[in-house]
Amino acid sequence: MKRESIWNKYSEKQLTELEKLSKSYKSFLDQGKTERECVSQMVDRVEEEGYVELSKLIRENKKVREGDKIYAVNMEKNIILFHIGQKPLEEGMNILGAHIDSPRLDIKQNPLYEEGDFAYMDTHYYGGIKKYQWVTIPLAIHGVVVKKDGTTVIVSVGEDEDDPVFFISDLLIHLASEQMEKKATKVIEGEMLDIIVGNKPLEGEEKDKVKAGILRILKEEYDIEEEDFISAELEVVPAGKARDAGFDRSMILGYGQDDRVCSFTSLEAMLRTKKCKRTGCTILVDKEEIGSVGATGMQSHFFENAVAELMALMGDFSELKLRRCLANSRMLSSDVGAGFDPSFASCFDKNNVAYLGHGMILKKFTGARGKSGSNDANAEYIGFLRKVMEKAEVSFQTAELGKVDQGGGGTIAYILSLYGMQVIDCGVPVLNMHAPYEATSKADLYEVMRGYQAFLKSDE
Ligand code: MN
Ligand code: MN
Repeated sequence: MKRESIWNKYSEKQLTELEKLSKSYKSFLDQGKTERECVSQMVDRVEEEGYVELSKLIRENKKVREGDKIYAVNMEKNIILFHIGQKPLEEGMNILGAHIDSPRLDIKQNPLYEEGDFAYMDTHYYGGIKKYQWVTIPLAIHGVVVKKDGTTVIVSVGEDEDDPVFFISDLLIHLASEQMEKKATKVIEGEMLDIIVGNKPLEGEEKDKVKAGILRILKEEYDIEEEDFISAELEVVPAGKARDAGFDRSMILGYGQDDRVCSFTSLEAMLRTKKCKRTGCTILVDKEEIGSVGATGMQSHFFENAVAELMALMGDFSELKLRRCLANSRMLSSDVGAGFDPSFASCFDKNNVAYLGHGMILKKFTGARGKSGSNDANAEYIGFLRKVMEKAEVSFQTAELGKVDQGGGGTIAYILSLYGMQVIDCGVPVLNMHAPYEATSKADLYEVMRGYQAFLKSDE
């Protein structure tokens, strides 16, 4: 088994392509710090490429045929793309799946309070985080506030150089002898993750003068009242842009790469695939980090309903044909994998771990405690994928999340496998997964996109 860096296999032309892809990826991360922002920039992008909205086709009762490109958006947080192939849908699709939600701090529904002349916003963290990593760094607020009259106020503050940022305080080291003795899970606890949003009292107020000042600014700048937080989705994320990392600029350091790195590359592969025998499909979901729940998570029927609508527009819908289509489909369920970290070598099995810069990861199984909760792809399917990747000269590595019984994690793979289709977990290795800033290799970004392209074209 060869295990080596793929950097030196590329031609000058490929390296130029790789840099170009990395640049647009960084811009995608900067413009997409929430699932809503990811969906909205993807809609702009796919419309430019000739994709038409499914609901528009339904309204106009348009016929769908080979070569058509269609997209559907679910509640602004989940998007699906179809590129109709030559073969009947009943014979199955080639599906790419990934998620666009990332760990963060969500602002609570009654968030604003004042203490010690600071105004705070109370948060509830989303997804698995090491809480101590989120203090003392510049934070931005992104999201929407929906008012009673149905209008939506879009909020994005903390990204422009002139914008203010927010932060969570930590205890000064001089007084921290007690804190430093605590377990890492207790150093910063969930209810301590409240962001400081102001310190200047409003003149003429009786009490909570700083809070009153913040409310006045919110009214002036966004036309929102304190009660409007009830119907808001505001996400607190690390402020600032994704950057090249290392003197050799081989890596990217940035927020939300789990799993926008796989989402971005899936979208790119889909748009670059000009013609396919089997229908290509890309589904990018929300809520993976909290168990794929809710109407915009993978467990929602949105995916299945969209395929049913598509079959109807092709004049070929029946319950049986829909089931056949799903069962005959193949899927690459993409998510980031744990990259080998020499500083924590003992947590990994060196022979069954992914290395940054070694290409696409194929994960036969994920799960924890004896593969529990895993999809565990079939050997026959992996054999098929080996052939597809070899033919396209795509480098891949096989890996597990960590050492046996070291921990574990889940993905969306098992949900799609319920249709009886072939599914495997795959993706990109990442360092510092779920930290405010995660690291990936540009080579893996490029190689994974090539792998997705090869998969979309496969037609046996
Ligand atoms: Mn994750
Ligand atoms: Mn993930």
